[in-house]
Amino acid sequence: MSAIIEDVLGLYLHLPFCSTHCTYCPFAISTDLALQDQYTEALIREIGGACSTDTPVCAPLQSIYLGGGTPSRTSLENLTKIFDAIRSRFDVAEHAEISMESNPEDYEPGALEAWRSLGVNRMSIGVQSFIDAELEAISRIHDRARRDGTPCAARSPAGRA
Ligand code: SF4
Repeated sequence: MSAIIEDVLGLYLHLPFCSTHCTYCPFAISTDLALQDQYTEALIREIGGACSTDTPVCAPLQSIYLGGGTPSRTSLENLTKIFDAIRSRFDVAEHAEISMESNPEDYEPGALEAWRSLGVNRMSIGVQSFIDAELEAISRIHDRARRDGTPCAARSPAGRA
């Protein structure tokens, strides 16, 4: 008989890549986007090993959180591989909250729809400031114009941002 973890289960995945390293940021991040493919493969191996042999069946995931870094900097191809790996290793609850951190400059046309198609239903948007001079001082690469469009775009009927 398979053992089942009874507790509510959530999954946090760290995607550490950013376009630039903001001057105030203390996190361990990388701006070498060329490493993304290797990192994704390593992450997929870790996902495949999740849950020990003592607990071969995990409870369905009630939440998935992609943090960083800037997960919206991860290519759609790699995000697709990561979600495929998650779904092949875990059951994902029907109404699971699936969150993803993002930056305003990554809201290219169609991006929100693409993330939504992976199952993401909650966006966290790193605006940081509503004043362009402050954004420049902390090395943020989006400006007010980019930021102004983002929250409206994220307010899709399918999303909960
Ligand atoms: S985008 Fe966020 S995680 Fe990346 S360097 Fe800036 S503050 Fe740090």
